[in-house]
Amino acid sequence: MEELNTDVLVIGSGLAGLLSALEAERAGLRVLIVGKFAIGMGTNTSLANGAFTVSNSHFSKEDHLQATLESGKGLNQARRVKAFVEKGPDAIRKLKDYGVPVLEKRMGYIVDRPEGSSQLPGCLLIKPLVERLKDSSVKLLPGLIIFDLVVEEGKALGAFGFLKDGKPCLIQSRAVILSAGGAGAIYRRNDNQRSILGDGYTLALRAGLPVFDLEFVQFYPFVLGEPRLSCFLLYPPIQKK
Ligand SMILES: Cc1cc2nc3c(=O)[nH]c(=O)nc-3n(C[C@H](O)[C@H](O)[C@H](O)COP(=O)(O)OP(=O)(O)OC[C@H]3O[C@@H](n4cnc5c(N)ncnc54)[C@H](O)[C@@H]3O)c2cc1C
Repeated sequence: MEELNTDVLVIGSGLAGLLSALEAERAGLRVLIVGKFAIGMGTNTSLANGAFTVSNSHFSKEDHLQATLESGKGLNQARRVKAFVEKGPDAIRKLKDYGVPVLEKRMGYIVDRPEGSSQLPGCLLIKPLVERLKDSSVKLLPGLIIFDLVVEEGKALGAFGFLKDGKPCLIQSRAVILSAGGAGAIYRRNDNQRSILGDGYTLALRAGLPVFDLEFVQFYPFVLGEPRLSCFLLYPPIQKK
């Protein structure tokens, strides 16, 4: 079996994995990032609309907090919502630092998509991050599927996977960042990329980690998912202010 060694293994190359890998490298660590396809591709991030609700000059942190708690109908964990609201502006600054083109909008930011561009906003979001990774010391291992974590005395110290050619491999690491996404795939009808199955949650459960709030998945009403009607687009009503 092929064996690899690194300080930090990042499982998943969507937005969470790409940013984690860049930040871990910035901290001086040896990083290996893996994904099921080409790094950044086949991810939900690459499909996304690239709209972020974050406080800005028109939308205060207090308003963001209030709006999020209200849409959560009192079920949100206020502590987490507060942390999310607090950290939002920094996350946007970080994206800009890494070269992601973002524009301020009324209640947040959107990925700046040039008029007439055929690329999805999510692809425009990923491109500069992948370019940064390619210029860094981070090792990229595309086409690898992780099927189990190595856990010793409660610590994740690597993972087992299948390489592109189907051969098994063992990756030993001092730390593992699980950024495999995909909770929407718990539902039979969802708008995930087909390969994003939520298998990261299985890896976590098998490693003894607790998972929570998996039922809170947002479904954007984009298509009517009935047999023979799969192309009927649904748009939410536009509210005029
Ligand atoms: C159609 C659509 C539109 C959206 N629009 C927006 C929007 O406008 N704004 C917004 O904030 N959010 C939006 N979202 C949600 C957003 O895209 C996701 O929440 C976000 O991209 C998740 O990022 P991630 O890095 O966690 O996971 P993903 O981008 O899904 O990446 C998961 C990665 O994990 C890898 N992986 C998974 N399992 C394994 C395994 N076993 N072994 C190896 N690798 C594995 C995959 O190959 C992939 O690289 C949208 C989602 C969809 C589907």
